[in-house]
Amino acid sequence: MNTSKTIFLVIIAVLISAFFAFDLQHYLTLDSLKAQQAGIDQYRQAHPLLAVALYALLYIVVTALSLPGAAVLTLAGGAVFGVFWGSLIVSFASSIGATLAFLAARFLLRDWVKARFSARLQAIDEGINRDGALYLFTLRLVPVFPFFMINLAMGLTPIKTRTFYWVSQVGMLAGTVVYVNAGTQLAKIDSLSGILSPALLGSFALLGLFPLVAKKMLEFIKQRKIYANWPKPARFDNNLLVIGAGSGGLVSAYIAAAVKAKVTLIEKHKMGGDCLNTGCVPSKALIRSAKLLSHIKRAPEFGIAKAEAEFDFAAVMERVQQVVKTVAPHDSIERYTELGVEVIEGTAKIVSPWAVEVTTAEGIKTITSRAIVIAAGARPLVPPIPGLEYIDYLTSDNVWNLRELPNRLLVLGGGPIGCELTQTFARLGSQVTQVEMAPRIIVREDPEVSEIVQARFEAEGVTVKVNHTAKEFIVENGEQFLLAETDGQIVKIAFDKVLVAIGRAANVQGYGVDELGIALTPRKTVETNPFQQTNYPNIFAVGDVAGPYQFTHTAAHQAWYAAVNALFGQFKKFRTDYSVIPWSTFTDPEVARVGLNEQDAQTQNIAYEVSTYGIDDLDRAIADGEAHGFVKVLTVPGKDKILGVTIVGEHAGDLLAEFVLAMKHGIGLNKILGTIHIYPTMAEANKYVAGVWKRNHAPKALLEWVGRYHAWRRNA
Ligand SMILES: Cc1cc2nc3c(=O)[nH]c(=O)nc-3n(C[C@H](O)[C@H](O)[C@H](O)COP(=O)(O)OP(=O)(O)OC[C@H]3O[C@@H](n4cnc5c(N)ncnc54)[C@H](O)[C@@H]3O)c2cc1C
Repeated sequence: MNTSKTIFLVIIAVLISAFFAFDLQHYLTLDSLKAQQAGIDQYRQAHPLLAVALYALLYIVVTALSLPGAAVLTLAGGAVFGVFWGSLIVSFASSIGATLAFLAARFLLRDWVKARFSARLQAIDEGINRDGALYLFTLRLVPVFPFFMINLAMGLTPIKTRTFYWVSQVGMLAGTVVYVNAGTQLAKIDSLSGILSPALLGSFALLGLFPLVAKKMLEFIKQRKIYANWPKPARFDNNLLVIGAGSGGLVSAYIAAAVKAKVTLIEKHKMGGDCLNTGCVPSKALIRSAKLLSHIKRAPEFGIAKAEAEFDFAAVMERVQQVVKTVAPHDSIERYTELGVEVIEGTAKIVSPWAVEVTTAEGIKTITSRAIVIAAGARPLVPPIPGLEYIDYLTSDNVWNLRELPNRLLVLGGGPIGCELTQTFARLGSQVTQVEMAPRIIVREDPEVSEIVQARFEAEGVTVKVNHTAKEFIVENGEQFLLAETDGQIVKIAFDKVLVAIGRAANVQGYGVDELGIALTPRKTVETNPFQQTNYPNIFAVGDVAGPYQFTHTAAHQAWYAAVNALFGQFKKFRTDYSVIPWSTFTDPEVARVGLNEQDAQTQNIAYEVSTYGIDDLDRAIADGEAHGFVKVLTVPGKDKILGVTIVGEHAGDLLAEFVLAMKHGIGLNKILGTIHIYPTMAEANKYVAGVWKRNHAPKALLEWVGRYHAWRRNA
């Protein structure tokens, strides 16, 4: 806890202790109020404004410090100021006091709660962001929830202070008036419990529940309305119909078939989608050839005086296709048919929430289905940069067709795909210039990660131009140039081929999304709720078309939720679990991450501790000539609970798996440290970083004493 928080906590503790130590609660009882009433009245008549100010101040202090006595003070409001003025003063004072208590709880505890329960908090935060005002209103009116607990609990949520204030004021108004009114008849009241009759309590509860019930009804009506224009078939051909046979579509269909549902998978291009044909598989195959070349170049480092590579770029690219062919049976029509999926090669178009029109070589047919999964993927984003339309540019879609190595390759984009291909082509022999508009490449990672990768690129001959914004492509005397702006200057970069890798746009057009009015996010992906449902609850979306991640493993992960919710959602629906999402950028050195890195933790204001182990010190890395990189683990302050891990180095993606498992199952660094890791392996780095954490948390005072004990034993 930092100093300002400690001071604040001490002040609050002193004030609360003083309240009880001086027995002040004795003044905030019904009997005391009755006894003092005449005196208070006299004072009010003599000093009306001062009386209001003192009363309001007292009310604010009591509620802000969550002290007992707010109910009696409210009665006093009625007894002293009457119904109208009493209600007015109490309404403002209680709302201000509640808001101060709320802010105090937020200041003291929100960061701690965030750090401790960050994964589980996400769903609660999302709910509060969506419906926080409604929940608060209900809590204020349903009398089972004590006033002070609501203030403190709400402080731990992300609800806006303004919202908290006005909803509290409106929500508490009815109760305030009842109590203030009762206060006007103070002499007749024997106990606080009698003020709210059961009928009144019931009415308040109903009033509190009303907005929630109304919201649910509105949602129900909205759902009915969205389906209103579409005739529902009397029976369905299928339980599930999946559009797109990429990672997301294949897994959705697989799961449906595994649980004996009737499922059709429609693919218009190639089975396996992007990952198999133009993404993960070909890129990793090409990276492998390029890596071999980089090793040959480094031969002297390994005691081999001379090694030369002679190769034909076209043959390397043919090997890539061979790898794709070898992997293809995993995603083939034959395999999925055998698994029980009906696979159709054709183009799908959603024509109603329950019907898909499929155009194949044989003609058009319509298939009805209870549920539909959209897994239509994404495509390379091509920016509207003037002149680009006149250039025969490359993207991750067509770069695999190259059979001639570009001499000067310009790579536009410093994200994972741009980086992987930059280094690969440089290693294959292209003169590569990488252009990125941000101040560094792979900006999602911490700055030192970008530095390491950029330094390696430059050492391998790549020209990295960060802070450069592409403005225009021109052709002069048959030579192609990019005009880029940097520091207010225009620079001219010559190239033979340009690879555009600035991101990927979801495929949301041409297959019925527009016509049905399926909602999109501001990022132009299909909008889904946590159950992967679109605004048509029987239409689901997964993978790149839905986001927010664009990885094969996240597409497959979402697919499980979509398929299970689509087929069994009437019994139970599951929220997609995004608590532990790993990824890797397959540059050399590899960069792998799970959970938070430092820049994320800082932007989200989550407290953390860092333990870093330098892989340059690892025996196996030294033996392999790969002594570079690091494992960096973020943990909850004072605890071994892992918040996130970044690994830079050889096989970082593989090394990360241990931390992914640990985070998923709540295993801390102590347990990793207590696990035997084979010597000498790269995986030992994981154990050593746990050791770094342990050393930083060694009980120094206790060890001092243990040292003394040993000294005594030596002398005894
Ligand atoms: C160069 C590159 C490297 C990558 N490397 C990695 C990596 O190392 N690791 C990783 O996790 N991810 C990687 N990715 C990302 C990964 O490929 C995608 O996240 C993944 O393929 C998304 O799967 P998907 O099912 O959402 O979409 P896709 O694989 O794109 O599949 C969508 C399919 O839907 C079909 N389709 C679309 N519309 C229709 C229609 N109307 N009717 C019928 N069919 C239709 C398309 O033809 C396509 O086959 C890489 C991507 C690229 C481009």
